[in-house]
Amino acid sequence: MAGPLATLAELRRSLEAGELTSAALVDASLERASATDAGIHAFLQLRAEAARAAAAEADGRRAEGRVRGPLDGIPVAIKDNMVQRGEPATCASRILEGFVSPYDATAVAKLEAAGAVVVGRTNMDEFAMGSSTEHSVTGPTRNPWDSRRSAGGSSGGSAAAVAAGIVPAALGSDTGGSIRQPAALCGVVGMKPTYGRVSRWGLVAFASSLDQIGVFARTAAGAAELLQAIAGHDPKDSTSLPEPVPRYADALDGDVSGLVIGLPREYFALEGAEPAVLEAVREAVAELERGGAKVREVSLPHTRHAVATYYLICTAEASSNLARYDGVRYGRRVGSSGGLTEMYRRTRSEGFGSEVKRRILLGTYVLSAGYYDAYYRKAQQVRTLLRRDFEQAFRGCDVIVSPTAPELAFPLGSRTEDPLRMYLSDVYTVSASLAGLPGLSVPCGFQAGLPVGLQLVGPPLEEARLLRVADAYQRRTDFHLRRPPEAP
Ligand code: GLN
Repeated sequence: MAGPLATLAELRRSLEAGELTSAALVDASLERASATDAGIHAFLQLRAEAARAAAAEADGRRAEGRVRGPLDGIPVAIKDNMVQRGEPATCASRILEGFVSPYDATAVAKLEAAGAVVVGRTNMDEFAMGSSTEHSVTGPTRNPWDSRRSAGGSSGGSAAAVAAGIVPAALGSDTGGSIRQPAALCGVVGMKPTYGRVSRWGLVAFASSLDQIGVFARTAAGAAELLQAIAGHDPKDSTSLPEPVPRYADALDGDVSGLVIGLPREYFALEGAEPAVLEAVREAVAELERGGAKVREVSLPHTRHAVATYYLICTAEASSNLARYDGVRYGRRVGSSGGLTEMYRRTRSEGFGSEVKRRILLGTYVLSAGYYDAYYRKAQQVRTLLRRDFEQAFRGCDVIVSPTAPELAFPLGSRTEDPLRMYLSDVYTVSASLAGLPGLSVPCGFQAGLPVGLQLVGPPLEEARLLRVADAYQRRTDFHLRRPPEAP
C-alpha cells in the first residue's frame, strides 16, 4: 500500500536534495488517497490531472533554478469552502451543486504562487456549520485513528487528510474552532490565525466577523511554512490587517524559558471535560515547565457565556450570508416553473441540510425586530466582555493554555441528534474566535489510542509566539510522530 507522506520539512529536504521530484510526490499523494480515502472520506474531489501538470511545472522550475520557496512542488489540500478558478466549491452542500468558481481565493492564489500543488478539496460540515463533519451532504469524514469515530469538524476532511498522510499540509477555516478541534481529534497541528491575518477573499462566508482561514500540518514548523505563504494584507478584504508578516521560521528556536503560561481557572472547572483530556493537558504544561516556562493561574470570568454568545452571533451572520443562495446566482435551482417565490422556497428547502436550516431560523429569529435587543445586541455586548477578559489575562501571561476540545474523538452519530451537545464541543475554542485571537492546537497525548490536543491562545498577531511554543513542545515530545492504525 502507498505509505503516508513525510512531514513538510522532510519532503522539502528530499526535493532540494534531488531525491524526489514533485511529480513523484504528487503521484505518491494521489496513490495514498486512493489507498486510504475510501475508508476515511477526507476528500470531496481530487484534481489528479491539474495537480500532475502543476507538479511538472514545479519540477521544471527546480531544474532551471527558479524555485519559488519552501512550498514549491509540495502537495496540499484545501477545504471545499475556498474557491479555486475552474474548480467546483460545494461547501458540502447540495445548494452549490454545479457551481464552478470563476476566480481564486487569495489564500489559494498565494499558495499556488508559492508553488504548492493543490491535489484536492476536502470534506466539511455543510457551510462549515458543525463540529464533526457529519453535516456533509456526501457523508462524514472518518477519523483515521478509529473509523467509527468523528474526525471533528467542520474542517474534518483537511485534518484527516493530514493525519492519514495523504498530504503534509492543508488549509481549513475556523469560525468557532473548526481548525483547532478537528486537529485535536485527528492528532495534527492546526492553527487559526488572528482575525484579519489571512484574507477571507474567496472563502465562502459563514459568519464574517469570525471566519478565518488557517493551516494544518503534522508539525508546528510545517504550519509556520504554510501560514507564511498565505498571511498578509489583501486590499480585496476590508478586514484584512495591514501589519507586516514576520518570518515565522525565525521564531522556532525551541526556547520557552521564561515564558509565562496562563491557565484559566474557569477552563479546568468546566462540566463535561473528560478527565483524561485534562490530565494530558496538565502533563503537557508540566513538560513546558521542565523547559523553563512558568505557570500562572488567570481568569476568564465570562467563559460560561461564550458558547451561547457564539451561537447567537454566528447564526445571525449566517442567516444573512446565506440569503444569497436563492437559485438565481449560484449553483442549484429547483422549481423555476412555479414562479419566483416558489423557486426560492424549493431551491432553499431542497438545497440546505437540517443544520443549516436550523441556523438560518435561529439567526433570523435573533435578528428580528422583537428579539434583536434581547439576543443579538446582548450577545455583542458579551462579546466585548469576553475580549476584555483576554486583554486582562494577557497582562499576566504570554500564552493561555487549555484543552482544545473537552472530549476525545466521539463515535459517529453520537451527537447529531443532540445539537446542543454538539455545540458544547466548542467550549474551549469559541472564546478566542469571538475575541479575534490566534489559537493553535498541538497533539499532547493519547487516551485509549485517540489523540488529545493542547490549545494555545495568544494576543493579537502573536502567531509566532504560538508556533514557537508548539515547536518547542514537539521537540520535547513524540506524539506527532505516531501514525494512525487505520492509515498505517
Ligand atoms: N462548531 C462550530 C459551529 O458549528 C464552529 C464551526 C466553525 O468553526 N466553522 O459553528
